Amino acid sequence: MKKEENNERPPVVVILGHVDHGKSSLLEAIKDLKITAKESGGITQHIGAYVISHGEKDITFIDTPGHEAFFAMRSRGTKVADIGILVVAADESIKEQTREAIEHLKKANMPFIVAINKIDKKNIDIEKVKQDLSKEEVFVESYGGNVPSVNVSAKEKTGIEELLEMILLLAEVEGVKEEKVDFAEGVVIEVQRDAKKGVVVVVLVKKGVLKKGDVVATESSYGKIKTMKDFLGKGIETAGSSIPVQIIGIKDCPKAGEDFFVFQKLEDAKKFTIDKPRKEQEASLGDKKILNIIIKADVMGSLEAIECSLEKIPQNEINIKIVKADVGNITESDIECSKMTNAEIYSFRTKIDKNVGKIVIRDKIEVHYFDIIYELIEKVREEAQSLLEDEVIKTEVAKVKILAVFRTQKNRQILGGKVLKGDVKKGSVVEIYRGEEKKGEGKLINIKKEERDVEKIIENEEFGMLLESKEKAEEGDVLVLYKEESIKKTL
Ligand code: GDP
Repeated sequence: MKKEENNERPPVVVILGHVDHGKSSLLEAIKDLKITAKESGGITQHIGAYVISHGEKDITFIDTPGHEAFFAMRSRGTKVADIGILVVAADESIKEQTREAIEHLKKANMPFIVAINKIDKKNIDIEKVKQDLSKEEVFVESYGGNVPSVNVSAKEKTGIEELLEMILLLAEVEGVKEEKVDFAEGVVIEVQRDAKKGVVVVVLVKKGVLKKGDVVATESSYGKIKTMKDFLGKGIETAGSSIPVQIIGIKDCPKAGEDFFVFQKLEDAKKFTIDKPRKEQEASLGDKKILNIIIKADVMGSLEAIECSLEKIPQNEINIKIVKADVGNITESDIECSKMTNAEIYSFRTKIDKNVGKIVIRDKIEVHYFDIIYELIEKVREEAQSLLEDEVIKTEVAKVKILAVFRTQKNRQILGGKVLKGDVKKGSVVEIYRGEEKKGEGKLINIKKEERDVEKIIENEEFGMLLESKEKAEEGDVLVLYKEESIKKTL
């Protein structure tokens, strides 16, 4: 990679737009043009971000299908990307998700470039796209504004060089600079679990220089970097600002979008993770059962609405823990996270990648799909409810006075008694009372009337019984008989 001058760093770019307008194709086209086949031989798996060189400069692209909006406008912390590319298909113009993307870009105050894609197609009207953009208050250069626009075809790989040129120009205008700090900081882009390597975390360095051997922590996990590789899978010792790297050494599954920080000592990193309020809350849960869930939603708005509604489910008996909440399709890393945390996946209007679908079936992962938020919430409530222990309700059914103790063994006694009230049935649970004081609990193993085994004795009758209990009953004691019923508790 090229050496950046004047404290410049590669701009970090995220591509947004309506589904099928060509976001993935554009990323692929850029990769194909800019990463040689030899280099790309090292890309054994999708890593969520990559760096290309254009002329003397580098550009980092975030490639997290379905998560673009999230990385464009993280609500907490700083933005991950510096520049957005709004892809609009020339044949379809503005669609629902184009509007959403514009909203995200504006909210995040993020400079962006419009890429009008699919210009190879027949019967397209580029001017109409620009007019439609004006209606959304996105004014491109020839329409009285200063939003750059580039015509591209991801299919034919045309206009790509111009787009890259424009990205670098915009980065220069915006003054994308590196910030020097002693301890590197950045953000988690993707988390994967590899059968052999363990947890592989893809992070993007935002400030400072990350080094192999550094101790890092996020809100939910920490560890020492054992191996560090660039996006091509080549081992590296250091990574500067805007550089995505795969690191191994983090203990468990941090969440995509979490910030990471470098610490001097492992204890400090551990403390940072454990000190987070969320962890404290977990520690105070005691015996409370936990329902782990993963939520995937189509857009940030739905995700927020879902999280908000889930908070309203009473959690004094069961804790509903969202181990991961993201926008975008269900990916392999969600599946890994689900396996690690035993969390079911709740999908709201998202798809599942084909290969991932196969893993879900193979590994029997529970994935629930919904189109209506209310139904999703109700399903979570139902699952949480199923974790509740049944409530046992005791109802008094009879009382017996002990008239004689015939025989006492270890845990058993043969007794004679009289029914004061109710019906006595074999198998009943009893409490032994001496006056007002409860002496113990037990069970009537058998009941006899005139030497014959019976099932029931009625009021005022005298009978013989075999009582099993730890505490011994004495003549004059009263046994109170109960019926026990299990009732399903609700939240
Ligand atoms: P995404 O959902 O925005 O990531 O869209 P994709 O990259 O998956 O593309 C959706 C469809 O449009 C695919 O069938 C692509 O082959 C097609 N497509 C993407 N870019 C172009 C283009 O420049 N020209 C043409 N003709 N088709 C394209």
